[in-house]
Amino acid sequence: MTMAPERATAATADVPEVRRLRFDVDERPFLVLFETTRACDLACRHCRAEAQAERHRDELSTDEVVAVFDDLAAGGPPRPIVVLTGGDPFKRADLRTLVAHGSSLGLAMAVSPSGTPLATPENLAGLSEAGAGSVSFSIDGASADTHDAFRRVPGSFALTTSACRAAVELGMRLQVNTTITATTVHELPELARLVRDLGASLWSVFFLVTTGRGRDLGGLDADETEDVLHLLAELADSMSLKTTEAPQYRRILHQRATGAPTGDRGPLYHQLHPRLAESVEPGAGSPTGSHTRTGSPTGVRVGSRPGPRRPPLAVGDGRGVVFVSHIGEVSPSGFLPLVAGSVREQPLTEIYRTAPLLRSLRDRSLLLGRCGRCEFRDVCGGSRAQAYAATGNPLAEDPTCPYVPAG
Ligand code: SF4
Repeated sequence: MTMAPERATAATADVPEVRRLRFDVDERPFLVLFETTRACDLACRHCRAEAQAERHRDELSTDEVVAVFDDLAAGGPPRPIVVLTGGDPFKRADLRTLVAHGSSLGLAMAVSPSGTPLATPENLAGLSEAGAGSVSFSIDGASADTHDAFRRVPGSFALTTSACRAAVELGMRLQVNTTITATTVHELPELARLVRDLGASLWSVFFLVTTGRGRDLGGLDADETEDVLHLLAELADSMSLKTTEAPQYRRILHQRATGAPTGDRGPLYHQLHPRLAESVEPGAGSPTGSHTRTGSPTGVRVGSRPGPRRPPLAVGDGRGVVFVSHIGEVSPSGFLPLVAGSVREQPLTEIYRTAPLLRSLRDRSLLLGRCGRCEFRDVCGGSRAQAYAATGNPLAEDPTCPYVPAG
């Protein structure tokens, strides 16, 4: 399925399906992903961090992390969102201290723990009391069998879903992260229902980048990715979701909203669509034979509202998003392992503003191949992590997108 050129579309301002940021992403990040540690009791098949059982002896100290938070807050409002990731952040004894300090500075603090025995209601309550407004957990299978096999730890599904429910009961916003691979994609309908039933405020659907342990797992090809993104665009009518490392989702939302032709859907779409509709709205999965506004060939809308509940932001690796590793190295994202600097040597905001790597990722005129010619490069720009994983060049075209630009 090669997609034909569509109508030209230019800047973010022209695309109402994409939310605009309140500040200049050339000046400071919107989202800081902070890897507090690589220690984790799980050994997940796709782990970017290639997590270890023990903490690294050169991990950033409490004072060093606090100094980064102070730097981030010094620019005044609107301040960035800081997500404390891992490994498992609960492996750090100072986690509550870090959350409390960031929160006291006005940073929007979120934590992304692993689904282990450490994710207890008590520990989650401690994060909430310290000022964390949200938590995110990874669920990669709709049942204990598939999730635990993916995570390689029996009991992980039960622990994770219990922790999700505990977080919602505590009044925290819950984000569920799901990695889509060639295997897990077939559980998409059941996963969508599970995420909704857990009371998640947001579903983050991550498209596998073949880095770290993910090298051994199969991702989707470009046409399959396109199929899944169309399914998510339909699902976004009824639940809040976002994609990670698949920014062409923003192009698809715009094409669907404007009625632009989007090519034919492939077998994966047709296989999953009725099951997804039935899973989210039981009784809705029977084809009617007509076409909806959203272009569903079965005539079944997955959701009941027109347009996404939560339009995505036009941010990406190094462009609004930045990653700090457990030893202080700064990268465009956790899935693009090029180092732009170290917070041990330079303030994070300075690295973000001035590092040639990050500046080049924000300069859309430097994009190569189809992404460089694409009329959607301002709102999309392709996944720089996917491009790097496939070619070794972070400015190359995104191989997971089948779109052929008009220009
Ligand atoms: S060609 Fe590149 S910029 Fe255009 S929609 Fe695809 S990934 Fe985005």
